[in-house]
Amino acid sequence: MGYDVIVVGGGPAGLSAGIFCAERGLRVAVFESGSFGGALRAIYPNKLVLNYPGFPAGIKARELAELFIKQARDYGVELRRERVLEITRELRVKTDAGEYPARAIVIATGTRPRELGIPGEAEFNYADLGVYYSAPEPERFSGKKVLVVGGGDSALETAVELSRVARVTLVHRREEFRAVARNVERLRQSGVEVLLNTELEEIGGSEKVEWVRLRRGEEEFTRRVDAVVLAVGHVPNSEIFAKLGLECDSDGRIKTDAAQRTSVKGIYAAGDIVSGVGHLELLVVAVAQGAVAAHNIYMELYEPYWAQRR
Ligand code: NDP
Repeated sequence: MGYDVIVVGGGPAGLSAGIFCAERGLRVAVFESGSFGGALRAIYPNKLVLNYPGFPAGIKARELAELFIKQARDYGVELRRERVLEITRELRVKTDAGEYPARAIVIATGTRPRELGIPGEAEFNYADLGVYYSAPEPERFSGKKVLVVGGGDSALETAVELSRVARVTLVHRREEFRAVARNVERLRQSGVEVLLNTELEEIGGSEKVEWVRLRRGEEEFTRRVDAVVLAVGHVPNSEIFAKLGLECDSDGRIKTDAAQRTSVKGIYAAGDIVSGVGHLELLVVAVAQGAVAAHNIYMELYEPYWAQRR
């Protein structure tokens, strides 16, 4: 069974690509091994998304994901819960359940949180022992001492959110933040303690996180904490297309042209997996790139009269 378009990754970019392909009458499937809705459901389901246009009072991430999924289903997009193992240059997608040919492919595999790689981190992460990469349920940190690391929007939003229930210290390696002004202002108005020009060097404890070692210039000091949230950026989910030889940047993100085409014919990319100077990892950008990819695939496959060059 073949598709006109296979979208790999069911986050906002992938679902949007699916919706806009289906709107153009293309037979399209979106493959996802985790949860459809991507980070909206998997990383920050309870967050109030305040900067997605059309929702001036904000919308819960989980609810927005459900709306994307419903719209995709209503449009006739096939949502397939299968793990993609490989994408080939011949436009075949191999999954844990089968192999599917397509006339075009959209890669929308997104990113995952970056690990810091410091001593102690691996001992306590992914097992609820005190090292986390997001805080989707702030109440779980109630009454605790939490160290948040990073100077971007994720770190500042996490610190402010946690400060409602916990004693929070934010550590950033520079004098200035890279987060948007609105988040910096919210941080200033919160009760979060801020340590600038400071780096986290080690995390320790016997069975769970109990302390951290920090450095500010020559000064080294230890703090007692119950938990550490690392919000130090993201790395691309690039494993499944590693063998394709797509042109990528030094970070491993895929280079595309303005039509979201990659360096391999018939393969497009959309969302956070895409490279770009100052690339905006925003929902609204991911959704827009999905639409642009879908539209250009339609033009490539059907060559409508209005798309012919004169
Ligand atoms: P960013 O890449 O923006 O920020 C990562 C932060 O981690 C930076 O401050 C960086 O420091 C710091 N960092 C990276 N590596 C290290 C290290 N080894 N040691 C110490 N610090 C380190 O990631 P975010 O997740 O914050 O944001 C990603 C994107 O998503 C951005 O475009 C952001 O705007 C967007 N976003 C938007 C939101 C919204 O619209 N509400 C919410 C959350 C994210 P340095 O600054 O020195 O490089």
